[in-house]
Amino acid sequence: MRTVYVNGDYVAEEDAKISIFDRGFLFADGVYEVTSVLDGKLIDFPGHAARLARSLRELEMPAPVTEEELLEIHRELVARNDITEGLVYLQVTRGAADRDFMFPDADTPPSLVLFTQAKPGLADAPAAKTGIKVISIPDRRWGRRDIKTVQLLYPSMGKMMAKAAGAQDAWMVEDGAVTEGTSNNAYIVKGNTIITRHLGEEILHGITRAAVLRMASEAQMQVEERSFTIEEAMAADEAFVTSASTFVMPVVEIDGAAIGTGAPGPVAARLREIYLDESRKVAI
Ligand code: PMP
Repeated sequence: MRTVYVNGDYVAEEDAKISIFDRGFLFADGVYEVTSVLDGKLIDFPGHAARLARSLRELEMPAPVTEEELLEIHRELVARNDITEGLVYLQVTRGAADRDFMFPDADTPPSLVLFTQAKPGLADAPAAKTGIKVISIPDRRWGRRDIKTVQLLYPSMGKMMAKAAGAQDAWMVEDGAVTEGTSNNAYIVKGNTIITRHLGEEILHGITRAAVLRMASEAQMQVEERSFTIEEAMAADEAFVTSASTFVMPVVEIDGAAIGTGAPGPVAARLREIYLDESRKVAI
């Protein structure tokens, strides 16, 4: 039975309670983070904590605990649930208040919830060897995608559209350019160059993205941060996505068209290996 964290308490998941007036439930007025666990340790924790602080700031939401306390809660949950490989989900909302569009008084306590998911074999995922297929769909999300809010309905619909089309995920397109995957950042490789969309309000600033781009530069690979189209992706040598839950995942097909040889490419494979190796070394 899983132990979860709710507003200061570690409780069995069936005993965890959040108010029906919680603004996360009523207004999607909340933000979240997902941190992976390998060898029982947290991957890229400082990056996730920093992005959480930024998301909270952008929404004028108070931080429920300090970064040190947050780390302690993550570690405690990993230990209590005996997680060797898996994920820790964290959600902060503006708390519970009688239903009103206006934000409640500043002294309303935010809600903080964390739970784990055990994912044995996360680092050794079979999909990393075969690659995944994606479809393209219009990006119909709101305009501040740089804030990691819990408004995940459209990404959820995107995954369902992908499934219906026999694919595993969708790349979203706005004004002719790929923004990102439904729950990951998107990349193509042409020749020796790794291309991924520049940062802005149109995409989430992936913590895995930042680490992978830094490691790619350190390994003398060329990186270009700019927009690209689905047509350019179809003509690329390789494609891949990054996220905390999939690390570096090759993409082998877009809208039914094979990318490169139709098999995972060497750049994605190398980046996955480097990312996993380097991240394990500095995991906490
Ligand atoms: N973009 C979106 C829309 C996402 O949901 C995610 C994963 N939460 C990412 C990118 C990847 O971010 P990260 O590497 O921090 O997991």
